[in-house]
Amino acid sequence: MHKKHPTSINFITDNLISEFSLIDRFFKRQTTNPSVAQGIGDDCALLSMPNGYELAITTDTMVENVHFFAGCAPYQLGHKLLAVNLSDLASMGAKPLAVTLALTLSNVDKNWLQAFADGFFALADRYSADLIGGDTTSGPLTLTVTALGLVPTGQALRRSTAKPGDIICVTGHLGDAGLGLKINQGYDCKQPDAALNRFNQPEPQVVFGQALIGIANACIDISDGLVGDLGHILEQSRVGACLDWEALPLSTEVLAYIENTGDWAMPLTAGDDYELCFTVSPGKVDAVTFPYTKIGFIEAELGLRLNKSSNIQPLGVKSFEHFS
Ligand code: ADP
Ligand code: MG
Repeated sequence: MHKKHPTSINFITDNLISEFSLIDRFFKRQTTNPSVAQGIGDDCALLSMPNGYELAITTDTMVENVHFFAGCAPYQLGHKLLAVNLSDLASMGAKPLAVTLALTLSNVDKNWLQAFADGFFALADRYSADLIGGDTTSGPLTLTVTALGLVPTGQALRRSTAKPGDIICVTGHLGDAGLGLKINQGYDCKQPDAALNRFNQPEPQVVFGQALIGIANACIDISDGLVGDLGHILEQSRVGACLDWEALPLSTEVLAYIENTGDWAMPLTAGDDYELCFTVSPGKVDAVTFPYTKIGFIEAELGLRLNKSSNIQPLGVKSFEHFS
């Protein structure tokens, strides 16, 4: 607790639960990883590092009314907060090791905290990520996770190493989370459950990320939409690309949405899918053993192009309206 903030004591005493009992009750659990020499309870956590590995570190914050709707289900929030961080580890091929959790709470609601912790730990347990520390403060609801993972030294998947000729691939489907957001905003979908579930509880592709070590040339997770995130690979690798719209993996519901609205750009631009986009040389693509879809090629010519109905056009983010 930051004792310099006078409000941080009040919210705790008002609710008759101290910071320590809050942490003990909801967040302190047995750690499982042999690398964790000290978990929750001292001023720092301690990790020992196995030989031959680098530590991958990532942080993501979610702010109420910015990254999630006020009043959204705490179980799903706990899941999603951790999922977006594990997705960053996955995109570099790192294996989750441990996480820290910084909670800024506007009030202490024990039911909310229990459901939040349940969602958080259900996912953490699936990937053996130990919660080893954090911070608890009072203020507008803001949630931060730092995730730590292990990746074999020198082998992490980067954004900067795509090569002309590489095949561009994605895991899963594109646009389901974007459709989930549209449904939350009032779009009437016949079968909304899968899209809503993707938006509320995305699955980080932790296993696929690690499986791409030594195979993919570049990788990123799709948090802000395919065009934007692939754009990071293109920029940092100083290459261009051509995507094939007809090859995009789209669910029945997303296809129906496009049919109904004409909004064919949605699966290219909508965020929150947390699938992986990776590039792999043609000679190595057969080594990828999990399901994926080939959606285009890396090219030496800079810029992003889209092949749609056998028409190749430059694809700037601004050109979408012009296109549709
Ligand atoms: P300090 O004042 O020394 O920073 P704190 O009182 O903030 O210590 O935290 C005590 C212990 O509880 C530390 O090990 C810290 O990492 C852990 N901790 C605090 N908040 C959380 C949280 N939300 N989740 C997990 N661990 C936490
Ligand atoms: Mg502290």
